[in-house]
Amino acid sequence: MVAPEESLSIEEDGLIIMEAGRITDCGPYAALAPKLDKAVPVTHYPDSIISAGFIDTHVHYPQMPAIASWGQQLLPWLEQYIFPTEAKFDNSAYAEAIASAFLDELLRNGTTTAAVYCTVHAQSVDAFFRQSEKRGTRMIAGKVLMDRNAPDNLRDTAKTGYDDSTALIQRWHNKGRQLYAVTPRFAITSTPEQLEMAGDLLTRHPDVFMQTHLAENMDEMKAVSSLFPDSASYLDVYAQAGLVGARSIFGHGIYLQETDFQHCHHAGCTLAHCPTSNLFLGSGLFKLFDAVRSDRPVHVGLGTDVGAGTTLSMLGTMGEAYKVSLMAGAERLQAIQAFWLATAGAAEALKLDTKIGRIASGMEADLCILDPAATPQLAQRTAHCQTVQDMLFPLMILGDDRSVKATWVNGKTVYERP
Ligand SMILES: [Zn+2]
Repeated sequence: MVAPEESLSIEEDGLIIMEAGRITDCGPYAALAPKLDKAVPVTHYPDSIISAGFIDTHVHYPQMPAIASWGQQLLPWLEQYIFPTEAKFDNSAYAEAIASAFLDELLRNGTTTAAVYCTVHAQSVDAFFRQSEKRGTRMIAGKVLMDRNAPDNLRDTAKTGYDDSTALIQRWHNKGRQLYAVTPRFAITSTPEQLEMAGDLLTRHPDVFMQTHLAENMDEMKAVSSLFPDSASYLDVYAQAGLVGARSIFGHGIYLQETDFQHCHHAGCTLAHCPTSNLFLGSGLFKLFDAVRSDRPVHVGLGTDVGAGTTLSMLGTMGEAYKVSLMAGAERLQAIQAFWLATAGAAEALKLDTKIGRIASGMEADLCILDPAATPQLAQRTAHCQTVQDMLFPLMILGDDRSVKATWVNGKTVYERP
C-alpha cells in the first residue's frame, strides 16, 4: 500500500477531456477549457467528486439472488443457499437476466471493473461477458471449476473443466475489454488433478487471471488440511498446482501465516479483502496492515463478495474495512487509503494500472461521480468539511448507492441517478 500522502491527488476545479473511450487530457479547468473546441459537449458536475470508477476484486454475480440468507457460516451456507441458487445457471436466459441486473447494479454503485465468479456452467460465462460487452465495461470473469464435494448438477470433471475453460479463454479473453480468470472455487471442491489442470491452463495462457478462495473460515481450513495432508499450508495447495502468480487473486486470506504473506509478496499475487462478507458469515477479521507490511508488502484489493457480502457498494465496503481494521490490529485504515484500495491500488494489484484506476491522460475513461451531500445526514456532516479530503471519510461511512450521481464507462454515461 502506498503512503497515505501519495494515495490521493485532487484537482479542485478540474476538466477531464475524453475521446474514443480514453482520457486525452485532464487538469485545471481554467488552463484546459480555452484549448477545447467549442463544438465539444461539456458535462458539468458541480459540488461533486469525480473519481476513477471503483474496482471490486471479488464478487459472484450468480449469488445476487441469494444475498442476505440467514443463519449459516461458510460451508453449510454454500450447501443450503448457494449451490441451489447456482444450479439455475444451466439456463442461458436466466443467466443472461441475472448478469444484466448485476451489471446494472454495479454501475449504479459506481463500480466499473470487477473480478467475477460465474458458475460451473460455461453458458453462465457467455451470458456475463455478453452483457459486459454490451455496456463496454472492463470485466474479469471465469467459469467455476468444481469436480468434487458439490451436488451432481454443479460438478464438472478435470477434463471438461479444462476444455470448457480453454474454449472460453479463446472466445472472450482480450475480446474488447473482457478478461478471463481461471476460477477453481476453492481447494475443497477441486481434486488435485483439477487444480493441476488449472495450473496447466495458466501455463498455456500466461496473461489470463486466476481467482479462488483462500483461508476464509476455520472449518474450511480444517477440511483443506485433511484433504491435502502433504501441503505445508492452504496457500501451498495452490502453489503446488502452479496457481500462485502475479495474476492470481485470492479471496479473503484471513488465516494466513507469516510464511504465506512472504510467499504472496514474492509471487506478486493479490488478496481480496471482503469485510462485509467476513462479518456476515462470521468468518473472521482480515489483518490488512499485516498483509501490507512495508518490508514485504502484499497487494490487497477490496471485494464485496456478494452473495456472502451484504452490498455491492464499494463505499459501504470501505466503511466496513475501516471497522475491521479497528478490530484486527493497531493501525487504522484512513479514508484516502480506502479510496486508493478501491481504485488505483486495485488496478496496480491486477496489473491493469496502465488502463484503469486513475484519472490521467491515456487511461480508459471509467469514472464515478460522487455526491457528498446525497442524503440529509451526509449533507449535514459534509457541510462543515474544510477540504475534499475531509469529505471522504463520512462518504465511506454514510455513503452507498445514493451517493453515486453518475457512472461513466469507456467515455460514455452508463448510469445517471434519477
Ligand atoms: Zn467469494
